[in-house]
Amino acid sequence: MRRKIVAGNWKMNKTPSEAVKLVEMLKPLVANEEVDVVFCVPAIDIIPVVEACKGSNIKVGAENMYYEESGAYTGEIAPAMLVDAGVEYVVLGHSERREYFGETDAMINKKVLKAIEHKITPILCCGETLEQREQGVTMDFIRQQVKIALQNVAAADAANVVIAYEPIWAIGTGKTATTEQAQEVCAEIRKCIAEVYDDATAAAIRIQYGGSVNAKTAPDLFAQADIDGGLVGGASLKEDFGAIVNYK
Ligand code: PEP
Repeated sequence: MRRKIVAGNWKMNKTPSEAVKLVEMLKPLVANEEVDVVFCVPAIDIIPVVEACKGSNIKVGAENMYYEESGAYTGEIAPAMLVDAGVEYVVLGHSERREYFGETDAMINKKVLKAIEHKITPILCCGETLEQREQGVTMDFIRQQVKIALQNVAAADAANVVIAYEPIWAIGTGKTATTEQAQEVCAEIRKCIAEVYDDATAAAIRIQYGGSVNAKTAPDLFAQADIDGGLVGGASLKEDFGAIVNYK
């Protein structure tokens, strides 16, 4: 039985002092031991958020990471820095990073490999544009994203990766994919994992849905056979996140 995982993606929101206040507000609301709860926060908020989450069920994630160990990469964050700061998860390949910062599937693959090497769990994002959905190439496109991102990742490591299916047209738009659309793609991702690896890896890997998830849509989405929780943007900054974590 796969354990559900609900992760908040704070994006570029909250100063360090605001971040601590948000954690204090959300901490009692997300105190659910049956679900993995992760707050993925801006780099500068990581240290105070890790401190504020101590003694709670909340794990801390980063929103990005570079794939080199150290060196002349001004502005980047190395995996060892994240580990030392107490980070356990990292969002990789978010559509906003692909669109605004030119991240390619090949770069994301390097980041996934590096995160695994440092025992940070990648939350690997994939998802189609509205145009791709209308052209009927959603499954092909997502299969390609997932296959390239997981190239050279061993089955045992792939089983621990979290994949977030996030249709780009549903991110921050208030348009949630229907439960059927979300389940259909998540099932296809699992099928793709079974083909690339094996049935056991496919059965173990956790697949989230992301895209305007809120307290109302979470229960149905998370009840789908192949949806193991959610990656939540806007609603992760509000009390709603508590209701999403306690979706049952
Ligand atoms: C996201 O940023 O990953 C996301 C899904 O955002 P939102 O929930 O705001 O659509």
